[in-house]
Amino acid sequence: MRRAIFFDRDGVLNEEVGYLWQVEKFIWVDGARAAIKFCNDNNLLTVVVTNQSGIARGMYTAHEVDNLHAFMQRSLAEIGAHIDAFYYCPHHPEFSGECDCRKPKPGMILKACAELGIDPAQSILFGDSKRDIDAAQAAGLRAGIFFTSENNLCDVVKLSVKKFLHVDGKE
Ligand SMILES: [Mg+2]
Ligand SMILES: [Zn+2]
Repeated sequence: MRRAIFFDRDGVLNEEVGYLWQVEKFIWVDGARAAIKFCNDNNLLTVVVTNQSGIARGMYTAHEVDNLHAFMQRSLAEIGAHIDAFYYCPHHPEFSGECDCRKPKPGMILKACAELGIDPAQSILFGDSKRDIDAAQAAGLRAGIFFTSENNLCDVVKLSVKKFLHVDGKE
């Protein structure tokens, strides 16, 4: 089974601007691309799990979310990095009814584990809200780690994989 590093998207990989779908508003957090490259180089899957209720609210479409994620992959490719999988919840209970994927529910994480052969007990998540951490716990991940974008994501990822997964990564 594989080990994975799960990332919330908005506020962790990119600066939180609220309901983001436009490429021109996308700003990587310091160290975000380097963090993903570090995971790639150390045989850790990188998986994005993001609530995108803007779809249920009619603010943007799934196609626009896919476009933004394709832009992220192109930007990562410039440094030889990639995200292994994106999962997003397009729902919101007030607009589209209950679902099992909107964090704090663990549906996206559990789906990724099933589809990619990930061992949750040997995987961790970085999030900037309590519902991210709650989803990590509900999915049985080794740890859910609170991250604020004033910090350098690569530094935090390196320390965390050493602490929780005993990965003493190669640069
Ligand atoms: Mg967030
Ligand atoms: Zn959902």
